[in-house]
Amino acid sequence: MRVVLLGPPGVGKGTQATRLALRFRVPHISTGEMLRDAIRRRTAAGAAAEAEVAAGRLVPDELVGQIVGERLGREDCRVGFFLDGYPRNLAQAATLERLLAGAGMQVDRAVELTAGEEMLVRRLSGRRTCKACGTVFHVDLNRPRRDGVCDACGAPLVQRADDHEAVIRERLQVYREVTAPLAAYFRDRGLLRTVAAEGSVDGVTEAITMLLGETGC
Ligand code: AMP
Repeated sequence: MRVVLLGPPGVGKGTQATRLALRFRVPHISTGEMLRDAIRRRTAAGAAAEAEVAAGRLVPDELVGQIVGERLGREDCRVGFFLDGYPRNLAQAATLERLLAGAGMQVDRAVELTAGEEMLVRRLSGRRTCKACGTVFHVDLNRPRRDGVCDACGAPLVQRADDHEAVIRERLQVYREVTAPLAAYFRDRGLLRTVAAEGSVDGVTEAITMLLGETGC
């Protein structure tokens, strides 16, 4: 169960990876979350990544490669993982292949989630994230019980700095230019499946679960 989730910002990779990781009992690895954590903790990696993340541009491959390599090398990843936000370009896809091959592993499946751009902008600009536990809400589409407060842990909800419209447009542009070609990379290897992700969160989780089951993944 080594699965890469592909798709533009706002399509629901993080939401789906969280649910699928629980369901299949494998870790959810989000490079975006690891970078935001490094920035919050003011580590050297965080300082090196901060300006790029704030601007919606990609952090240098070497830096992300190091972070993800260290994470994939941990014991809990031996049973598999849902990788969310990595790889983001062809060089990172080659790095991932190399990292896994070093441990006698490979990607089993790449699941591409798709949605129209206006839907992505709406989802991202209304997204609110729990400061403490990372649970994601939306001001219209998935409201918390109390405004601004996390249902799961009671901590305040915040808007990610890169979820403002100008940065969202930049992130979508980066996606179109350098990340979208990864679909062809995984298709060429016979690993790609595509799921339309404009419907309900539950519906998308079921669609992905079914295709992972069908393919014996
Ligand atoms: P995400 O949470 O996946 O939307 O990522 C948030 C931001 O973290 C991105 O806009 C990038 O600045 C950075 N980032 C996350 N993953 C990567 C990656 N694989 N390569 C480079 N930058 C990344």
